[in-house]
Amino acid sequence: MVSNSKSRVFKVAIVGAGPAGYFAAQALQNLQTPELKFEIDMIERLPTPWGLVRSGVAPDHPKIKTVSKVFEKIATAEGFQLFCNVELGKDLTLTELTNLYDAVVIATGTSRGRKLGIPGEELRGSLSAADFVPWYNAHPDYVDVDVPLDTDTAVVIGAGNVAMDVARMLALEPKELDVTDTANHALAELHKSAIRQVHVFGRRGPEHVAFTSPELRELPKLEHTDVEIGECDIEDALERVSIQGELPKDVKSNLDAMMLVAKTPKKGNERKLNFHFLASPIEIKGKDRVEEVVFAINEVKDGKVVTTSDTYSVKTGLIISAIGYEADPIPGLTYVDGKVSNVDGHVENSNVYVVGWAKRGPSGVIGTNKSDAAGVMELLVSNLREPKPKVELSEKLQERGVIHVSQSAWEKINASEVAAGEPLGKPRVKFVKREEMLGLQ
Ligand SMILES: Cc1cc2nc3c(=O)[nH]c(=O)nc-3n(C[C@H](O)[C@H](O)[C@H](O)COP(=O)(O)OP(=O)(O)OC[C@H]3O[C@@H](n4cnc5c(N)ncnc54)[C@H](O)[C@@H]3O)c2cc1C
Repeated sequence: MVSNSKSRVFKVAIVGAGPAGYFAAQALQNLQTPELKFEIDMIERLPTPWGLVRSGVAPDHPKIKTVSKVFEKIATAEGFQLFCNVELGKDLTLTELTNLYDAVVIATGTSRGRKLGIPGEELRGSLSAADFVPWYNAHPDYVDVDVPLDTDTAVVIGAGNVAMDVARMLALEPKELDVTDTANHALAELHKSAIRQVHVFGRRGPEHVAFTSPELRELPKLEHTDVEIGECDIEDALERVSIQGELPKDVKSNLDAMMLVAKTPKKGNERKLNFHFLASPIEIKGKDRVEEVVFAINEVKDGKVVTTSDTYSVKTGLIISAIGYEADPIPGLTYVDGKVSNVDGHVENSNVYVVGWAKRGPSGVIGTNKSDAAGVMELLVSNLREPKPKVELSEKLQERGVIHVSQSAWEKINASEVAAGEPLGKPRVKFVKREEMLGLQ
């Protein structure tokens, strides 16, 4: 690191190599001056970086993943070191990091799926998007998730973009996924899938969905899947919102997009994706596995969603809930409502900061994490005083027998995956086993 005799060099540990972690590193790099320098150690529990850009974003959305080029640029800037395959809470404690570093940034996201909290949720065939999504995205901890696809009907609970991704992955003709980076084990299962009908259920009306309109506008373009939204559902929603005066832009755009889906002539495809509104699951029935889901019908009264005593049920062998995420707690941090307890990104009375989904909860697209991290890093810098002595994390890890994946080792894994994908017309073929990745060192 080039520093002059007057420059102060602060050591910052960023825990979590997802978008929020990289954008925090970028913000620190941008805040450097000849007098102020940063050495950044990024610590990640997986052997691979990029967080949900690798293990969350849907395989049929490859363009979104090109943000990884930005991450790689940040990673190759001076003063940045990557330590993958190192877990905070297992290989290192928070106290160790806070003692060693001038500041610690928690960017560990929210990996646990929120529960529906209804009877039958533990039956085979009932799972969370937090398990299904990493399964098809080759996350090493989720290879063995039991995803029974031997049923003609699947039910997805939720009205956000994660529910939409899950529904699309189940409803697409699997051949369309052959040219993507879907995990090989998942692709093989999806090719054998008996699912032909996917039903998505939202608790509220179309005017309240958290889907975004670009994702909705994609739906009529699906070649092998007919997407159905009831025109009357959208008309009812329009009637309800008409009394509120001018509509917020995003609501109008969503309702327009849903009306477009509703009005698009269907192609007569065997594969169908249906959207339903104002329905809350109240029970999952089945003996040894999911057989039926019972829904309560909701209605909107004075702008509020209320559950009625009317019910209906859907026969299905698979129900996937996509109703939000919460953080997997790390010892030494306190959590409120599934997020790290913080004030504007600062964990009070400490040199610990928090960014991304661990700070805000599971909302916002990749770009949202950039401005958010920039604000928190300004606060971090404003609180810095005198730098602590230099630390060498690699020595500490070596003493403990922890094999870490450095930036150059990750680059070998990355190149090997991309090379394996090339002859198959895929962006990459992902490794799923930790040993395979560590073996490339
Ligand atoms: C299924 C899904 C699809 C999405 N699709 C899109 C999309 O198409 N477009 C878009 O803009 N946004 C999308 N998003 C949102 C986007 O992924 C998030 O905004 C973003 O990933 C949040 O970044 P983060 O860094 O806070 O968390 P994450 O991306 O989750 O990164 C957290 C990282 O911390 C690591 N970690 C966790 N615990 C520890 C520990 N104890 N020690 C060390 N490391 C740890 C994790 O392994 C992970 O790599 C999607 C989200 C999901 C869930």
